[in-house]
Amino acid sequence: MKNLVIKGFILAAVIPFSAMAQLDPATIQKIRIEGLEKSQVMDIAFNLTDKSGNRLANSEGYARAAAYAKDVLTKNGAVNATIEPWGEFGKGWDLEKMYFAMTAPYYKPLLAWPKSWTAGTNGLKNAAVIVVNAKDSITLQAYKGQLKGKIIILDQDNTYKQSFKADAERYTDEALAAMEAAAAPAISRTPDTAQQRRMREMQAQRSGPQRVMNLLKAMAIEEGAVAMLTTATRNHDGTIFAQGGGAYKGTDPANFLDLAMSVEDYNTFLRLAKSGTTVKADLDVKTKFHTKDLQGYNVIAEIPGTDPLLKDEVVMIGAHLDSWQSGTGATDNASGSAVMIEAMRIIKAAGISPKRTIRIGLWSAEEEGLLGSRAYVKNTFMDANNQPNAAHQKFSTYFNIDNGTGKIRGIYAQGNTAAAAIFKTWLAHFNDLGAKTVTLSNTGSTDHIAFDGVGLPGFQFIQDPIEYSTRTHHSNMDVYDHLMQDDLKQIATIVATFTLNAAQQTNLMPRK
Ligand SMILES: [Zn+2]
Repeated sequence: MKNLVIKGFILAAVIPFSAMAQLDPATIQKIRIEGLEKSQVMDIAFNLTDKSGNRLANSEGYARAAAYAKDVLTKNGAVNATIEPWGEFGKGWDLEKMYFAMTAPYYKPLLAWPKSWTAGTNGLKNAAVIVVNAKDSITLQAYKGQLKGKIIILDQDNTYKQSFKADAERYTDEALAAMEAAAAPAISRTPDTAQQRRMREMQAQRSGPQRVMNLLKAMAIEEGAVAMLTTATRNHDGTIFAQGGGAYKGTDPANFLDLAMSVEDYNTFLRLAKSGTTVKADLDVKTKFHTKDLQGYNVIAEIPGTDPLLKDEVVMIGAHLDSWQSGTGATDNASGSAVMIEAMRIIKAAGISPKRTIRIGLWSAEEEGLLGSRAYVKNTFMDANNQPNAAHQKFSTYFNIDNGTGKIRGIYAQGNTAAAAIFKTWLAHFNDLGAKTVTLSNTGSTDHIAFDGVGLPGFQFIQDPIEYSTRTHHSNMDVYDHLMQDDLKQIATIVATFTLNAAQQTNLMPRK
């Protein structure tokens, strides 16, 4: 660790001053006026959320958003805008109908959301609730022959707990200082490969609770149960976190209907049923699978470089355009996509000609494992033998936004000490907007990892958490109203400046 820090210090020290040269203050001022005073970011966000609907990979909403993104990028002056296939993703899925209400012992509408890629009910069903308490395949046998026509609820302790903490927060100066003080991580490429992820998933499938769940679902399908209800203690106060309900490849069968339910309604069901009261519900779910085209699609567009010597070199910005299904993916990640589309607009509107080519990538299927960005990186920067190609040599850097609606407070340098020194000088112009922290730490779980994994500089900004993990991330409350306008304007302005700095500086971004 110590060795790495020392090596990094020397690297930073030998970067010629010209490499760190940056946009002049007048240009930065032009960008700030365009981004902070003439912003269109909320209109872009409106089109990606309210107008498109949810943007589950390969869903109808994703197609609407991709078409809009291509159009608005073109309208704002970008060229070569394409909705580009990246390889096989799998089936699209849309929810066409959902009605769920308790009918006995009295009537009550219920809060729930079907998980993606689950089957429907084949019409309205009135079904009794059955409580299943099975810890392993042996105790599960006790329910054999009892599931036909039933709604299954698991006997789990999901006790509601009052929260005495505000949902939303910003980073304190102390928290940011601690990030800044963090030592460089051990430099490692591809901290989370697709292969490692698959191994983890396979292990989880074999592990106790997940294995029992899979056996129960198989039994439910075989016997003709109506649906299964699941919850988690975080599904409270009207907020439900709903993700995938199983496999989605072209040849995979539809998954058993599994609804993510609010913990309060779930606990009502469980208390009543365990007390011996008959609990019944009306359930009518209709889902649609898209199997004609299994390809996944990213949206790509460019502002061509103008310097004869540098125009073949590329600076990229991006965000994932896809979302989960219950909200409209406002903070995950319409916010990221909107600020990137807006950053492209700002650069054109400010009338600045970049020396290098600036390219935007709006990725699909990030939620299923960074699939769109990983495939793009492989298709674009690697040869047939999975070795770096000519485009890899001419690539400068990639900037990503995917941590919600919170403004930029700094940037994760991913252990790249030389890049960290450059970012520090670039951020100096935005300290008044709250952005100043450069941490050598890694952050993961989003699309910059696809670039970092093949040795290309890829970075995600530090963003204020706001209510990302408490309220909006993958929930039905991830909707337009939870976006913060001033924060998004700040992000787009800083991203536009970073992008132009990278496009104009003498050298490519230094690599680790
Ligand atoms: Zn997400």
